[in-house]
Amino acid sequence: MLENVSKYKYMSMSSGSLLVAQPRSFYNIQSSSPQWIEVLLNSPWGQELCIYSIPSDLMVQPGDIVSVPFGKQIIGGIAIRYANSIPESLNDDQVKDIDDVITSGFFTKNYFKLLEKVSQYYCTDLITVIQAALPPNLLSKSQRRIRLKNENIPPNAEFFCRPAAAQILSLLKAQKDGNYSIKYLKRKVKGVRQGIRELNQRGWIESYLETPKNPQVKQQKSVTLVVDQFPPNLTPRQLEVLQVLRHEGGELWLTDLLNLCQASASIVDALAVKHCVIIEYRERLRLLKDPEKSRDKNKILTCQQHEALKIINGLENYNEILLHGVTGSGKTEVYLQAISPLLEKGKSALILVPEIALTPQLTDRFRARFGDKVYVYHSNLSKGERYDTWRQMLPGEPQVIIGTRSAIFAPLPNLGLIILDEEHDSSFKQTQISPNYHARTVAKWRGELENCPVILGSATPSLETWISVNQSQVSSDNSYYLSLPERIGSRPLPPIKIVDMREELKRGNRSVFSGSLQEALRNLKEKNQQGILFINRRGHSTFVSCRHCGYVMECPDCDVSLSYHYTHEGATELLRCHYCNHTQIQPPNCPECNSPYFKFFGSGTQKVTQALKQEFPELKPLRFDSDTTRNKGSHRRLLEQFSRGEADILVGTQMLTKGIDLAQVTLVGVVSADGLLYLSDYRAAERAFQTLTQVAGRAGRGDEPGQVIIQTYSPENSVIQAVKNHDYHCFIDEELPRREELNFPPYGRLILVQLSGLDAIEVQNTAQKLGDYFQDTIGLDCEILGPAPASIMRVAKRYRWQILLKFLPDARVIIPDMENWHKLCPNSVSLKIDIDPLHIN
Ligand code: ADP
Ligand code: ZN
Ligand code: ZN
Repeated sequence: MLENVSKYKYMSMSSGSLLVAQPRSFYNIQSSSPQWIEVLLNSPWGQELCIYSIPSDLMVQPGDIVSVPFGKQIIGGIAIRYANSIPESLNDDQVKDIDDVITSGFFTKNYFKLLEKVSQYYCTDLITVIQAALPPNLLSKSQRRIRLKNENIPPNAEFFCRPAAAQILSLLKAQKDGNYSIKYLKRKVKGVRQGIRELNQRGWIESYLETPKNPQVKQQKSVTLVVDQFPPNLTPRQLEVLQVLRHEGGELWLTDLLNLCQASASIVDALAVKHCVIIEYRERLRLLKDPEKSRDKNKILTCQQHEALKIINGLENYNEILLHGVTGSGKTEVYLQAISPLLEKGKSALILVPEIALTPQLTDRFRARFGDKVYVYHSNLSKGERYDTWRQMLPGEPQVIIGTRSAIFAPLPNLGLIILDEEHDSSFKQTQISPNYHARTVAKWRGELENCPVILGSATPSLETWISVNQSQVSSDNSYYLSLPERIGSRPLPPIKIVDMREELKRGNRSVFSGSLQEALRNLKEKNQQGILFINRRGHSTFVSCRHCGYVMECPDCDVSLSYHYTHEGATELLRCHYCNHTQIQPPNCPECNSPYFKFFGSGTQKVTQALKQEFPELKPLRFDSDTTRNKGSHRRLLEQFSRGEADILVGTQMLTKGIDLAQVTLVGVVSADGLLYLSDYRAAERAFQTLTQVAGRAGRGDEPGQVIIQTYSPENSVIQAVKNHDYHCFIDEELPRREELNFPPYGRLILVQLSGLDAIEVQNTAQKLGDYFQDTIGLDCEILGPAPASIMRVAKRYRWQILLKFLPDARVIIPDMENWHKLCPNSVSLKIDIDPLHIN
């Protein structure tokens, strides 16, 4: 069995393409008749990649589900890839044979290529990538079973075979379903393996891998109508239930039928007694179904939509398409109409969206168009829902998967189109755990491997995509820039008013709302319209401090101030750390000087909601932030509440910027833009432009014109001006040269090396050693920035240092031998590499 080998080799690839630190590349070379294969299996110690030899009479390919000996058991696993040799630490006779192939081609070849590519590019072990791609617990407790193939078995079959085989045969025959686990047979029969092999060769049995027990398959009662003519002896209620059942196609889950008819189970039981229906247990796939929405048809496209769709529909092969459409320009309608011919051709489509908050509305629109061919797949599903949704993709029925970042690994066999909506959004990058992949990067690889188009849609494209599409348009023909510059129905983009908050203060206005915003808020109620107030989440303005001595409450484990939380009237006032979730009660007095003037400052959603209540008691606010949307389904509930008009103002954070499409929203207020402008990050300007443009785009999407009011202390800032003029090009013209000058992406490439540990000195020393090592080994076309402490140096008691590698635009990006890195790093210091990091802190 293979140890957890951490051997890395590096190869340089052709210029321009990134680094390779390839885990285990020493036995990854293809050969004509491979002797060994690596198998991912769930051992008692968790998921592991082990090496096995391939018996000469067995065909095993990567992607097969196989059974393998492990310790004293035979367990299931997935064959991952061929190996050309075994690690030096193992002897030939320590490597066992693959037992059998259970299912061939479980995953397609391309799917595995994709996983390998992710593993290489992001310097992550293949096993970690596979774990990120598969639903949780997939391989746990997979058990190999065998069953009779009754149709092949001649009379008196036992006479023809040897004792072990005969014994197995009679055991199986005696069992109702003719099926046992190998584990059970082993206990009962001596020489069970030869026996099974013999029966297999005769074609009398087959082996299969039992569906993993955990998560469990769900059994549920179903009701099936079994008569054409209803008998005369029915009560009116019974008749009604039968009619509903017939109307719904003659088959329903019992709970659904009872709900529809508002009936009790006893009525259906009585119908079963009268032989009108059958009630039986069936496996129910736990697919997250939201209430069915009314069906809708293709809309008649505008000229611009039509032009875009014509090009998209003409593409069959891999192409990168930037669909640059202003907010409300009808991008989603283009996606919908691009998908529908694909489904008819038997292909599937994958749509990635930034956050769950966005999916309810979008999912509804897809359901309304494609009905039950639409599935959602993301990590907020329960394990059961996730597993079942995943499982139903494998057979390749044409379908539409809508999901977040990780859905890029959805195992759809017949992929015809990949769409990233709001492609600029930073939540497409996984930051907390390995692999630190960007779903857009992976989507392009997947598009190339499956040879299908990839649409990147946005009102504010990322600079990466802008450069990528515009550059390759010059050099090759597999990229398209499609533009939807106008809103549907020639609706104007909402006028944006910039309010200088310094002037407000001069005029003696101490409210968080400027005169203009106050006036607009007053008008809302009169006109019976709704508004959105946006608060920048990443502000540092919710801290608690003493007005007397200036003491600030900080997290005991992190170098950040605690945030003030007050959920509702009468609730306990809490302080919480946004990094480690440390929570404590707000003390009434300053811990330092005991002053009672120990209050929180700032303009979080809570404070703004409270100010709103005070100054505009007639307006009903609704908070939409990470506190109020913590529970499953709460995004949908809040948005529905708001769209039913149960509140006048939606007060929220970054979540508001993403795809909310409500016609009755006419006012968008940005309480303070400044927190966005001054972040110490080379991407701050891009993020500010994107966020402000997106949030402004929520206004005036219906027949009533909208307006946007942005409050700021720096009205002259060029990002603010570009937002005001709805001028993406102006923003780009300003921002691109700045990036180019400093060799930041999209020109140069970044790799962030992060170190953390409990001992401050040890982390610092390790960072220093690693930095020196880089200086000695990395070429001149890479700038080494640091080592430096992370901008928040301590999080959850761990001290953090980092080194930033900046590769010049034409540099060959080669990561030096990672094995040496680890050697320089004591066990107590953890080392993380973030390839193409989005945040450098
Ligand atoms: P985007 O995704 O670009 O923000 P949407 O696709 O949400 O824009 O479209 C904005 C609104 O216009 C939606 O309510 C949508 O139903 C509507 N819409 C889109 N295309 C058309 C069309 N061709 N005709 C009429 N209405 C449309
Ligand atoms: Zn004090
Ligand atoms: Zn903390």
